[in-house]
Amino acid sequence: MDLLTHIISGIAVSSVIASANSKIIPAPRILAVGALGGAFPDIDAISLWSRFDATIGKWFGLAHTGKEIYSGKFWYSHHGFFHSIAAAVMAGFLLGCLAYLYHRLRRRQQREPFSRYLKTGLPVYLVFVSGCLAHVAGDLITPASVWGGVRLFWPYAGYAGGWGAVWWWNNYDMFLIISAGTCLNILLVAVARHTRFRTGIIAFPVVLLILVGVWRQAATRQTDYAYTGNTGQYQQLEEKSKKEQQRILGTKLYRAMDRFDHWLIINF
Ligand SMILES: [Zn+2]
Repeated sequence: MDLLTHIISGIAVSSVIASANSKIIPAPRILAVGALGGAFPDIDAISLWSRFDATIGKWFGLAHTGKEIYSGKFWYSHHGFFHSIAAAVMAGFLLGCLAYLYHRLRRRQQREPFSRYLKTGLPVYLVFVSGCLAHVAGDLITPASVWGGVRLFWPYAGYAGGWGAVWWWNNYDMFLIISAGTCLNILLVAVARHTRFRTGIIAFPVVLLILVGVWRQAATRQTDYAYTGNTGQYQQLEEKSKKEQQRILGTKLYRAMDRFDHWLIINF
């Protein structure tokens, strides 16, 4: 699935914790960590970077080109280790440690014990991990392609997902559902900050509704996008996906989303 939808998904799940903790941790920080978690697993797509072979490939003495790595089944290939539960937990832990060190350096005068830091550090850690997992969940429903899904249970060698329920790109309907729910939850965060109203109680069901909405949209697709390996039907499937969006959204909204898509510099 596209990076923007992944980032919005990360913000959506983080909005629940932001609502519940708005007076302890600044909400923008929680939402930003959620966005970071939502984007993080696709760090493995760096092998597609035009300068990958001349830089990272050379430094690590990699025997394969970035393109071969991207579509391969190495642990560092796309949809490999970085799309696993283990990577989410480890990267979250690393981020938490770095944040703690930064925290200590900033407050050199009044050093805070680790146990007290956990009160603010743990929710942020959970937000990052949840953002990563929301990303991986979004990838489960895309085609298997050359990987066969995502390596969800690394170090176990098997791949999960690859269901092909949706196309890689232009899932505008899902993007709109996730964005609408996320905007509502951000509004709730603002309400929680300025009132005594505990909006976390509403924010969680909103995220559940987003999940149901996305699941429903995936189930009502009329095209089967599943394929393994490389497909010669890539263009046809992409066209079918766009036609499907036009049918779901109606011409006006579809055209607006299509314009937005062309305006963005990333694949959407
Ligand atoms: Zn991904």
